[in-house]
Amino acid sequence: MSGAAERGTLRRIAFIGIGNMGWPMAARLVGAGFDVVACDVAAERSARFAAEVGGTAAADAATAARGADAVITILPTSKHVGQAIEAMDDALAPGMLLIEMSSGVPTATRGFAEALAPRGVAMIDAPVSGGVPRARSGELAIMLGGAAADVARADAVLRAMGNALTHVGGIGAGQAMKALNNLMGAAGFLIGVEALLIGQRFGLDPAQMVDVLNNSTGMNNSTQKKFKQFVLSRRFDAGFGLELMAKDVSVALEVARETATPAPFAALCREMWASAVGLLGPGMDHTAMAQFSEKLVGETLGGGNRAS
Ligand code: NAD
Repeated sequence: MSGAAERGTLRRIAFIGIGNMGWPMAARLVGAGFDVVACDVAAERSARFAAEVGGTAAADAATAARGADAVITILPTSKHVGQAIEAMDDALAPGMLLIEMSSGVPTATRGFAEALAPRGVAMIDAPVSGGVPRARSGELAIMLGGAAADVARADAVLRAMGNALTHVGGIGAGQAMKALNNLMGAAGFLIGVEALLIGQRFGLDPAQMVDVLNNSTGMNNSTQKKFKQFVLSRRFDAGFGLELMAKDVSVALEVARETATPAPFAALCREMWASAVGLLGPGMDHTAMAQFSEKLVGETLGGGNRAS
């Protein structure tokens, strides 16, 4: 199989949200031969995408969606997705598939799907994990919620962007899964930074601690991919915003509330991330969360403090 057959029935893709993740994901679609129409409220981003990567740029979401087989949204929050759906309104035609790839709120996504269904527009949620590096390489994990037939229709599109696709349930289930994944990532980051700060006070070298943890049972995604790269280096530029992580932990807690699941640890974690957004200010990378813990302790993490 090659060319159009491999790309399935969805050929023309309106791609809404050319941000940190949207840019490399849309670039994977262009590379796989899909007809991509890019759109971002920051119009210069979609114009630059079309000029540097390919496809075409649309001035607004309705123009992008008109005539598309599928619309992909990857926007900061469900609120932004609601605004985009409203903006596309009469361009959404029967037979279209809306693939919502943001880390959104499951109940909001269910509401969008219910409103679109009578118009013959199907919707699935397909949030992703793996960050910018795996978006670039097309190796994202994609968590899918929706009807099996709609998930199957999106398969070729999704496989251009990810290589670990899991259909976890009905509409919204992918986003519930994604929020719980990020709850674990957020909690693992926080406890890891706390351990490094305790160790440093004791006289251990944080960089050496990370090496030891990565050979031991304390290893997690933050010890492997964040502490040396973005915290100890003081770069704080992983490409995933602090507000976005705080939002994900809040969504996880909302899922806990809706299911009447006691979640005291998640609640503490949520309050810490939300407080950090206030304390550190807007526009920070999520790895700057370490500075919040450092402020609590009154000490900055550094290297070279190895105990003799
Ligand atoms: P981002 O802020 O870099 O990009 C979002 C883009 O959406 C921006 O370019 C913005 O101008 C645009 N936008 C906002 N409202 C719009 C609208 N109504 N119409 C068109 N464009 C609009 O965010 P990101 O890091 O790319 O994250 C996007 C989503 O993916 C979020 O839900 C986030 O939680 C999730 N996510 C991010 C990462 C990561 O590592 N960055 C990883 C996994 C999941």
